[in-house]
Amino acid sequence: MKGIALDIDETISYTVEYWVRQLSKKFGNPKNLTPREIFEQYRLIQNFPHWQSKEAQDWIDKDRNSNEIQKDLPLIKNSNHSVNKLNKIIPVVCYLTTRPQSVLEGTTYWLEKHNFPKAKVIGKPAKITYEDGTKWKANMLQKLFPQVQGIVDDNLHLIDYLPKTYKGYIFLYDIKNFSSDFKNVIVCPTWEDVLENAAKVYK
Ligand SMILES: [Mg+2]
Repeated sequence: MKGIALDIDETISYTVEYWVRQLSKKFGNPKNLTPREIFEQYRLIQNFPHWQSKEAQDWIDKDRNSNEIQKDLPLIKNSNHSVNKLNKIIPVVCYLTTRPQSVLEGTTYWLEKHNFPKAKVIGKPAKITYEDGTKWKANMLQKLFPQVQGIVDDNLHLIDYLPKTYKGYIFLYDIKNFSSDFKNVIVCPTWEDVLENAAKVYK
């Protein structure tokens, strides 16, 4: 069956909200920035200058590898309903995430808990470092085409690793301004935009 892939963190799961809350409690947040403010400035919270100590980075690493934590992560509001609508436009055939394979159990639990469409969850193999995660994901997308016709993802760096000949669509979620000569990149500030654009592209 042909269909679309979905990213998880910051596309359907509001993971950064959990991390900012915890890291602020444990390591402080001098300017009292909200999760949204930190996310908009740094995108990856491990880049936030105040949390560069080894202790903070180790804590991030430990949490990233915990199944229990994945089970309780907050949801991006209504993302589950939007994904079920998307699933009617084009089937969701997999979740493609740079989360390590070791947390797929907690991840699957979370997806079921929020009634996301059932589909295979593909996680990053342990031998790929976190830093190489985006490159790994771009390679997977190429390998999975044409079965996987595109992805909804908030990570614009995915495009850096895709050849111009890639025929799938990248729906860049939660990105407002971005221009690229890559014609299959569609900027989608909201889930409504994803649904609208997917309906045009996959009609
Ligand atoms: Mg993401």
